[in-house]
Amino acid sequence: MTSTTVRYNPRGTNRPLRTALYDAWRGSCYWCTRTLQLDQAEIDHIIPQAAVAGSSLSAAFGLPEDFDVHDPGNLAPICGPCNKAKRALDLTKTPVVATRMEEAKRKRSRVIADVEAMVSGRLLARHFTGVRTASLNDPATRAVFLAEAPFVVQRLAAEAPTALDYRTTLIVEGQDYDEHGAPPVTRTVSATLDNHGRDTQLVLAHVCGADLADLLDQIARETCEQLEEEYGSWGETAGESPELISWGELDTPHQSITFDRVAFEESGDTYTFTATGEAQIVFRASGTRSDSRGDELEDLQGEAWIVCRTTAQASWTRGDVLGDVLIDEVALSDVDVNSWVE
Ligand SMILES: [Zn+2]
Repeated sequence: MTSTTVRYNPRGTNRPLRTALYDAWRGSCYWCTRTLQLDQAEIDHIIPQAAVAGSSLSAAFGLPEDFDVHDPGNLAPICGPCNKAKRALDLTKTPVVATRMEEAKRKRSRVIADVEAMVSGRLLARHFTGVRTASLNDPATRAVFLAEAPFVVQRLAAEAPTALDYRTTLIVEGQDYDEHGAPPVTRTVSATLDNHGRDTQLVLAHVCGADLADLLDQIARETCEQLEEEYGSWGETAGESPELISWGELDTPHQSITFDRVAFEESGDTYTFTATGEAQIVFRASGTRSDSRGDELEDLQGEAWIVCRTTAQASWTRGDVLGDVLIDEVALSDVDVNSWVE
């Protein structure tokens, strides 16, 4: 891990760091994956501060001697209940920590870049963070916001006219039930829409009679199905020969897709829609390890955390049934799989 001046400060408010971590984890608790408000997010040390070199924890996770608990690669946003619950856990027996750490390491450079950008405009960043957390239900705060916002808009218009292409977020919560009556799989889809993205939403609604939220949920479902097909059939994997590991039914506790671009093109009578983004899916399963005679040696738990890019295309032609926007292709790339077995 290379050193950085961006670290958790035990005596500070760590506000820019909290915002950057919150954004990097898409506004969710990294432990239970539930969606959080920024003001509910606490900063968690994945490997706790108490873990010093030579402890059982550093041995369990193979931490280097100079491991820095305050490094952004060891930090993540957590909800209050998880933060309390995690303190009581024996983390050496909680191997999911390893996949979370891999994920944090992946996000580390982005978190550092975000914090550095905020710190270089420190005063402004502090105010903007305040704007993000301000309660607009409070009449006094709302009055200040409405009075000051036009100055910000004018300044932006003068500096960079295209900066006025603001972004909004569309959030869709989808659920799938399987035929065995298992608990439903909950899927969170969020899409960042710029001006073009909002135009796409309007064209879909007013020309094709379709709903962008529904379309994105369909794309998300198809993305997850493809991932499940490719990585979800663990069945039996060969352990150290002649042992056999046999996995039970897969549980998918978490699916989430973030589309960072939604756009459309019009050519003659045909409208083509594209959505690109990042998908995350977590699979969990229980299994058993048996010897060559089929005698069970031990029970196992496994988890795989998969992240990939997804690009989807859908189309609609004048004359097609209203609302019938068809998905032509969902292509997955940059698939990154982290897994553990205990
Ligand atoms: Zn949580």
